[in-house]
Amino acid sequence: MKKVVKFGGSSLASAEQFMKVGGIIKADEERRFVIPSAPGKRNKKDTKVTDMLYDCYGAAEEDKPYQEQLKAIEDRYEEIIKGLGLELSLKEEFKTISANFKKKAGRDYAASRGEYLNGIVMAAYLKFTFIDAAEVIFFDEEGVFDAAKTDKVMSERLEKEEYAVIPGFYGSQPDGSIRTFSRGGSDITGSIVAKAVHAEVYENWTDVSGFLIADPRIIPNPVGIDTITYKELRELSYMGATVLHEDAIFPVRKEGIPINIRNTNAPEDNGTWIVESTCQKSKFVITGIAGKKGFCSVNIEKDMMNAEIGFGRKVLQAFEDSGISFEHVPSGIDTMTVFVHQDEFMDKEQKVVSAIHRLAHPDTIDIESDLALIAVVGRGMKSTRGTAGRIFSALAHANVNVKMIDQGSSELNIIIGVRNEDFEAAIRAIYNIFVLVQI
Ligand code: ASP
Repeated sequence: MKKVVKFGGSSLASAEQFMKVGGIIKADEERRFVIPSAPGKRNKKDTKVTDMLYDCYGAAEEDKPYQEQLKAIEDRYEEIIKGLGLELSLKEEFKTISANFKKKAGRDYAASRGEYLNGIVMAAYLKFTFIDAAEVIFFDEEGVFDAAKTDKVMSERLEKEEYAVIPGFYGSQPDGSIRTFSRGGSDITGSIVAKAVHAEVYENWTDVSGFLIADPRIIPNPVGIDTITYKELRELSYMGATVLHEDAIFPVRKEGIPINIRNTNAPEDNGTWIVESTCQKSKFVITGIAGKKGFCSVNIEKDMMNAEIGFGRKVLQAFEDSGISFEHVPSGIDTMTVFVHQDEFMDKEQKVVSAIHRLAHPDTIDIESDLALIAVVGRGMKSTRGTAGRIFSALAHANVNVKMIDQGSSELNIIIGVRNEDFEAAIRAIYNIFVLVQI
């Protein structure tokens, strides 16, 4: 059996954290493949090594002095190495990095050094084989991740290894240059490795005990989620719940490998299991609530619209032509509303409005700004009557005016549009009616 374990930056920010991680890995001999992030923040005011690298490289790129900044990064690793009592020197590595900065090896190269060096330290500490991600993770000439080549090379390589450390976040392009995933991308590396070795589980260790039903900045001490399906998670993370990089789901999902989100600082907690499907009912009818502010609704009216074939296409064409993606399109008999991100839409507003007039000849167009969307997600909704009713009565009691309702046909989620200023009150009301009354 194989487990792939990924540790986030805060789990590896200091020697002390490294020791916790070492304890977790050694506690289970099936934890064979380890994916480290770069050292993160040791306290709130601290800076992540990745951000230090971006800054330092920024100076090098502008031909400004950068040695001092690079020294500060070296010191962070030195402190960890010393704290762990390792016989390891990164002097040569830093010489190479400095020379490559001078040669302007690229921002991605610079940022990737955070996980690269941390991988070397981790491998030395655990006495595992170090595998440079540039040798097993590939991107094409355009910088698009090459899943097929990666899977082939990675699985062949890891077959030969019993225990290995593969740094997260980066890989290489055909010309040998380094390419990173987007920020937080070590989660993706972990998922790719888990797929390649057909792991039994992909454990993603971070500084929280999994997903919470709602945002703790809005609900104090919300209940945690035990089990969530990939689909539910996708809905929630799209709507702003962050713990795991969105793209980390895809490689393991195809293989049916579950992800277990765990807390390095509380390893006894079970965390959250992310699975393809489950017969396990969630504790509550809903699995989670998430949402985002900053939407605009464009309300288009035209008499007899429902009888006009192609009206919807023409309206959406106006948005497409301006490069704007839409979020939701609830419609009535003679109305159709398009929800878009306000910041994307603002500059192009008049262009879109005139295009709608030109293409679809509506009677009126009405724009409303400063709206928020809230997703109430739960696989349990399918088999429970009255979920929507409970949501709306809770919102009515909280004096929240509902601007839009959209229930996906999968019955997995209900999306509610409210004013930005009602956002927090709406989330509290929904949490209270489904969760608080039951505990
Ligand atoms: N170190 C990178 C970042 O800060 C990648 C990661 O941590 O996953 O975004």
